[in-house]
Amino acid sequence: MLTEIGRGRLTVNLGAIIANWRLLGAMHPGQTAAAVMKADAYGLGAAAIGPALRDAGCRHFFVAHRQEGVALRQAIGPGPMIAVLNGFAPDDSDLVPVLNSLPDVNAWSGMGREAILHLDTGMARLGLDAAEQMILAGAPSLRQGIVLRFVMTHLCCADEPAHPLNEAQQERFAAACAPYPDVPRSLANSSGLFLGAGYATALARPGAALYGLNPTPGQPNPMQPVVTLEAPILQIRQVRTGESVGYGAAWTATRPSCIATVAAGYADGYLRALSGRGWAILAGRRVPLVGRVSMDLLTFDATDGPEPAPGEMITLMGKGVAPDDLGHVAGTIGYEMLTSLGARYDRAWVA
Ligand SMILES: *Cc1c(COP(=O)(O)O)cnc(C)c1O
Repeated sequence: MLTEIGRGRLTVNLGAIIANWRLLGAMHPGQTAAAVMKADAYGLGAAAIGPALRDAGCRHFFVAHRQEGVALRQAIGPGPMIAVLNGFAPDDSDLVPVLNSLPDVNAWSGMGREAILHLDTGMARLGLDAAEQMILAGAPSLRQGIVLRFVMTHLCCADEPAHPLNEAQQERFAAACAPYPDVPRSLANSSGLFLGAGYATALARPGAALYGLNPTPGQPNPMQPVVTLEAPILQIRQVRTGESVGYGAAWTATRPSCIATVAAGYADGYLRALSGRGWAILAGRRVPLVGRVSMDLLTFDATDGPEPAPGEMITLMGKGVAPDDLGHVAGTIGYEMLTSLGARYDRAWVA
């Protein structure tokens, strides 16, 4: 009889997210931490994480797109601020636009609505540039009828504490905020919170660290791990010395080998760049990924240790396989490992 083996399982630890949010909020006295929830809370499910953070006391949320904001509002209900980093045209939504240019300011002036003013201090993506900042500072009437909730900027190099741009941006931000003495400020992302007291503002905007990624690369991770990704073994096969495994015959056994074929692949966000580089945890042991990552299948060398059985779960991300570390060997960052997580996993959010 053929027993069907299920699919991968993604478990998100809400208690760990809340603990991380509290730790980040306590980094600087008098400062509040928002929760950055763009891209469906870094791939982990804004509809479940939003209400959990709201219940824990989080009053400020950031998303990238207006549609993300509308969905998050439905999930958390009225009350907390939901700001849209990419901005949007005036509408009747209960969302706060981030104003990224003088035309944005112009579009929202006279509306009597709350907004966040984004001043660019070096990222050169969004936000009023230096010339626009001068114009707005010299003509307060341009922002008449806009209730400024915060002025914000975004650090480019916060994950590199020694980078000179950190201090430069901090100084530029202080100067750029001078025309808005009564408006609270928002500066630090996850890593920015760890740069020292000079980076404290009224509202920090951590994202990655909430979800367990390390805001202090190269140092021990102060955050609690959040994500566990497991997938079932579909088959065990014995491979003889000299036989190859997978597409391109990219890996050849140099000894009689036990290969575990697992039900996940690049279509599930297990990046193909991990071919020949990844690893997983099987019954507490580290097993190397061998051969190429396929669309729906992965092959691991389970030769060392007791032979696993089909149906047994293998840990692709979690204890012993931090998303940051996998991202590093894949030539990317933990952020992308999380936002790439596919739609085919059974998802569970545990308290
Ligand atoms: C994504 C983002 C953040 C959060 O950054 P993390 O590094 O994930 O903490 C904060 N502010 C802005 C403007 C962002 O785009």
